[in-house]
Amino acid sequence: MKRFIPEPRRPETLFDPCIKCTICVSACPVAQTTATFPGPKQAGPDAQRFRGRGEPVEGPWINLCSGCYRCQVACPADVPIAEINLFAKQRYAAEKGRDVATELLTHAHWFNPWGQRFHWFATPLLRMKWARWLAEKLFGVDRRAPLPTFARESFRTFARRHESPRAKHKVAYFYGCFTDSNAPEVGRAVVKVLEAAGVEVIFPVQQCCGAALIGAGNFDRARRQDAANLAAFEQALDQGAEAIVVGSPSCALALSHETGEVLGLGHSAVYSRVVDLFTYLHRLDEAGELNLKWKETPLHAAYHEACHLTALGFGAHAPALLRRIPGVQVRVLDAGCCGLAGTYGLKHKTADLARQIGAGVARRVAEWRPDVVLSECEGCRMQIEHLTGVPAKHPAEVLADALVE
Ligand code: SF4
Ligand code: SF4
Repeated sequence: MKRFIPEPRRPETLFDPCIKCTICVSACPVAQTTATFPGPKQAGPDAQRFRGRGEPVEGPWINLCSGCYRCQVACPADVPIAEINLFAKQRYAAEKGRDVATELLTHAHWFNPWGQRFHWFATPLLRMKWARWLAEKLFGVDRRAPLPTFARESFRTFARRHESPRAKHKVAYFYGCFTDSNAPEVGRAVVKVLEAAGVEVIFPVQQCCGAALIGAGNFDRARRQDAANLAAFEQALDQGAEAIVVGSPSCALALSHETGEVLGLGHSAVYSRVVDLFTYLHRLDEAGELNLKWKETPLHAAYHEACHLTALGFGAHAPALLRRIPGVQVRVLDAGCCGLAGTYGLKHKTADLARQIGAGVARRVAEWRPDVVLSECEGCRMQIEHLTGVPAKHPAEVLADALVE
């Protein structure tokens, strides 16, 4: 995928390189599932010609694009289709507004710390049938959708008291709000693996990466958050961090790609230094500097590559590393998108579509019956666990558990 374009893009000209091959249409999980979405070619470059002339072409169908980036990755002409759709969503929302479910779910980072603080109340509440019914009726949050649990202790609290030993390598860790409030065990596993690999980890003060806001076309709010993130992580780079390691592919895509190219926040040293955890470990390995020792860990795992990990363009390095652990068997699912796509699978309007999109992944998991499904993306983990009943984990958790201490 083409990345790090120095100037903010002019959305009205983005359709230019399209050669009308329709490869993007066959790559789009939404277009392959429903006829109500015109598909990436028509919603993207085709409609963009008219948008550039100021003609009103948008309909509510633009919000059916889940923002998975599969079209953009597949396009042989480097048309930034997913981004064209983001600009179109922004314009459509400016005219028509956003529904309550979208507003609520894209601001989950406001509520999550409160949910975590009152975890003893919030987690059971989210599982009560009447509460789910009410949330669907009042806010449009699907009553059957997967929802997270809240942690007893936030990752932020752990990070505040944790001092990473000085080491040859130093990275800044962007843990993201899901890890902070809902899955701090993932963050602790990431830190444990990095430290075992001889890497000092620092924790700059951070805000939500804005991935969900960007996906809903709410660029103004996302800009405020990411401007603060850029300042904090630029400072971390000045303090000697060689990379910004991110556990979640969607956060990594927002920080490295969308912040500059969609939000137009200008040049930042941060963009080119953002890397997902397993790519960072892979680079250490390539340099002959990854000397981790594993204990026997009998595990039959299926690995799901998140759409946004593919979109990052670094490759999926987790399966190869996991296979080095004695006893671990990993098969790559390769069954397409799970359908959750941030808030898409949580909204009543699109939840059924999300489940249909994820049916291929669910079928393969049911055929293989692994002990666990592994994926770096928290949304994929929630959706797969929900659709299949098989537990889902971040691959860093398997690495951390298998380390010889
Ligand atoms: S894949 Fe790219 S070039 Fe082909 S139709 Fe889609 S946008 Fe146009
Ligand atoms: S981003 Fe995903 S859902 Fe949207 S048009 Fe592209 S492939 Fe389809």
